[in-house]
Amino acid sequence: MKETTAPVEPLIAGARRHEVCQILGETYDPARWNDWRWQMRHRLTKPDQFEQLLRLTPSERRGLAMCHGKLAVAVTPYLAELLDPYDPSCPLRMQVVPREEEAIVSPTDMVDPCGEEHDSVVPGLVHRYPDRVLLLAIDTCAAYCRYCTRSRLVAHGELDPLAGRLDAIVAYLQAHPEVRDVLVSGGDPLLFSDEKLDELLGRIRAVPHVEMVRLGSRVPAFLPQRITPELVAVLRRHRVWLSLHFSNAAELTEDVAEACDRLADAGIPLGSQTVLLRGINDSVPELKALFHGLLKLRVRPYYLYQCDPVVGTSHLRTTVAKGLELIAGLRGHTSGYAVPTYVIDAPGGGGKVPLHPQTTVSYEHGTVTLRNWEGGEYTYLDPVAV
Ligand code: SF4
Repeated sequence: MKETTAPVEPLIAGARRHEVCQILGETYDPARWNDWRWQMRHRLTKPDQFEQLLRLTPSERRGLAMCHGKLAVAVTPYLAELLDPYDPSCPLRMQVVPREEEAIVSPTDMVDPCGEEHDSVVPGLVHRYPDRVLLLAIDTCAAYCRYCTRSRLVAHGELDPLAGRLDAIVAYLQAHPEVRDVLVSGGDPLLFSDEKLDELLGRIRAVPHVEMVRLGSRVPAFLPQRITPELVAVLRRHRVWLSLHFSNAAELTEDVAEACDRLADAGIPLGSQTVLLRGINDSVPELKALFHGLLKLRVRPYYLYQCDPVVGTSHLRTTVAKGLELIAGLRGHTSGYAVPTYVIDAPGGGGKVPLHPQTTVSYEHGTVTLRNWEGGEYTYLDPVAV
């Protein structure tokens, strides 16, 4: 469990929201606060804003100062309200406030750990697996995670949202009948306007052999105000699946619950991916709280990722042994729905490889010796050939 390094003074409900607005030079207004465009326009990006928002550690202060030219810093006012001002081990704060450790580059760190550039077939489209593609549609996110696998792409303003690229992408999809599944990601595609998203999804859906469209998004966690009835109508119209991203149960606020309810009530299938992060979710109680919380919101946790070896993230990564130990601590100890598949996206473009704690002790002459969740050994016999 996380340690508290400084006494946390109780916050008066709502008072923090006024403080955040004050830092932004605004007066708190509930209608504006709940407007996702206002939230995006008023993201905290400057070191002096974080200086007012948080009691910064020397490491965070240096991290904020050195971020120019590297992965940008941006935090929505909604998320800013949730950051613990006094506790640097706050799991939300650790994800979005840079530290000076980002300057440490390990020999094994990579700019593009998943080898997406290698499998890029037209600008913004990655085709690695036989029947599915990844469409990198936009380079903006509501907030920037310090461990982002695509830190080479996001927040640079280089991926002009789809301008001049969509025709080539659609032409590729039309020419490849083996593609039945399109994952639209980025950046965060839920930051498109409703009209733009509707157009994009319509173009993809018009390709007859595309059976499934998924959107990868962190917006419900960082900007739940974006999940408006109008957006939900667009998602519903195009029958999309949503692959969400949550890291810690502290992200599951009432606003997030409302957003997930709106999506689930519209029949949109919701899954969640979690990146295993040191000090943020690397304990059985933290993961259990997150996965149980997600299930309560009708979100199925389906992948637990070993953190990719992205440049400057070694301070946030755990060992693989730790990941296996955590999965062993979940499997059998709680509902199967609450245990995602633990995977490594093999560096260099090998794709996702699942990892499991050792449960097959031996397998000889049609006899399997199994180890169960309590450590007991059991035998299973193969059927006799007839
Ligand atoms: S929301 Fe996703 S793409 Fe954006 S910074 Fe976080 S991990 Fe990267």
